[in-house]
Amino acid sequence: MVLPTMEVNLTRETICFDDVLLEPQYSDIDSRTEVSLDSYLVRSLPNSLPVSSSPMDTVTETDMARAMSAAGGLGIIHRYNSIQEQVTMIEEALKGGARHVGAAVGVTGAFQTRAREVISAGAKIICIDIAHGHHSLMEMAIKGVRKEIGSAPVHLMAGNVATREAFDDLAKWGADSIRVGIGGGSICSTRLVTGHGVPTFQSILDCSDTEYDAKIIADGGIKTTGDMVKAFAAGADFVMIGSMLAGVNETPGDIFKDADGKRYKVYRGMASRAAQERWRGTATTPEGVSTTVPYKGTAADILSNIKGGICSGLSYSGARNIEKFRFTAKFLKQTVAGSRESNTHILS
Ligand code: IMP
Repeated sequence: MVLPTMEVNLTRETICFDDVLLEPQYSDIDSRTEVSLDSYLVRSLPNSLPVSSSPMDTVTETDMARAMSAAGGLGIIHRYNSIQEQVTMIEEALKGGARHVGAAVGVTGAFQTRAREVISAGAKIICIDIAHGHHSLMEMAIKGVRKEIGSAPVHLMAGNVATREAFDDLAKWGADSIRVGIGGGSICSTRLVTGHGVPTFQSILDCSDTEYDAKIIADGGIKTTGDMVKAFAAGADFVMIGSMLAGVNETPGDIFKDADGKRYKVYRGMASRAAQERWRGTATTPEGVSTTVPYKGTAADILSNIKGGICSGLSYSGARNIEKFRFTAKFLKQTVAGSRESNTHILS
């Protein structure tokens, strides 16, 4: 028996960040400082770095929210805490420093109260944060949180999704931006556990065809600034990162030393056993892992390198801003041998 829908999907080839390169093009840009990464989620609060830190308990609390804002990006404080704890983190981040802070909420329990409280604490971006965003609960949550926002200048982010159909639905339900990427995260085991997912780069390409004007946040599996540059060329407005920031001073958690004096911090998926046990007391089947990563110094240094890398990327395509870059960028597909050559290889 031939199943027509299955046949169609099996002939479809999907591509990852490592399958593509951008062709260098004529440039008259003399310095990276000529390149602007200006963008915004909330129009009145422009960003000079279209990068967000993930709402995870080993990535974003007060210190990271401050560091992201100082670098021109955005920090989204995770939701695996009490409403009061999250409110305090937002207030602390804003008291002295952060220009704007995002806050994650879920889709069950007291999520609407949480949304109301974090908005009154000063959060300007609410992120409805669930693993499988193309869901009836998401529709209800977006509509419920919209009511809480009312006419306040608050941006509503939602996700995650992997397909154009899902992207369009979330946009139709009222999301201002949508996190795109399922199963690609460095600490994610969703594809192994459930067999579901789409390469993040492919999802960005698919969603960039949308006719809705919701912004695309590329999320999960971004390993390098090269991946970020490819994501912007494919249509992403913002990128979200966990592992690239994990291990810096500003992430929550202690610094550990091994016998040789090397320093580490914990980085874990929010669906890992360790994370679930911490915030819920028990764990269901994990869809993420917990690990240690080398200590990396300050977020400011990492974010400054990220900014430099992205600006350099745009200059290789002769583009002074992201909008122009989307028109000039030309993708090439590379082979496995090409991908090997693209990595630094003297060390291996
Ligand atoms: P990374 O930048 O590749 O480390 O991916 C970070 C992203 O992984 C986050 O922004 C989430 O979208 C996603 N994520 C976080 N925790 C989990 C998990 O436990 N399982 C699957 N995905 C996760």
